[in-house]
Amino acid sequence: MNKEGCLFCRIIRGDVPATRVHEDEQVLAIRDINPQAPVHVLVIPKDHVATIGDSLETVNAPNRLFALFHAAGKLAVELGIQRSGYRVVVNSGAEGGQTVDHLHLHLLGGRQMVWPPG
Ligand code: 5GP
Ligand code: ZN
Repeated sequence: MNKEGCLFCRIIRGDVPATRVHEDEQVLAIRDINPQAPVHVLVIPKDHVATIGDSLETVNAPNRLFALFHAAGKLAVELGIQRSGYRVVVNSGAEGGQTVDHLHLHLLGGRQMVWPPG
């Protein structure tokens, strides 16, 4: 999927509505439309890269990855799941279960997580 047709690029541009919980220069965080836990936020880099591997091929990789984890950690505090615990997930590629080909962290919390994951 190119940038123009990419769902998360369209959300970042404001062409598709979403519930925004955080935004800065590098990152947008939104509520997942189909939440899998009481807290389910997607932390999305504003520049389009499809996967972790694609991100690593860009000069902005260290900044981007730091910005994603930094935002996730701050949001965990703001959303009240820092103390109870939470899970951060990146689905990557077909077998990883990725359905939107724009890199994103899932921040999940507010219930007991299980292992192994599905
Ligand atoms: P993936 O499966 O790629 O790891 O995660 C994509 C996530 O995007 C899924 O959890 C899905 O529920 C969420 N999602 C898909 N379409 C939309 C949308 O239009 N708005 C929002 N907020 N989330 C979406
Ligand atoms: Zn995109």
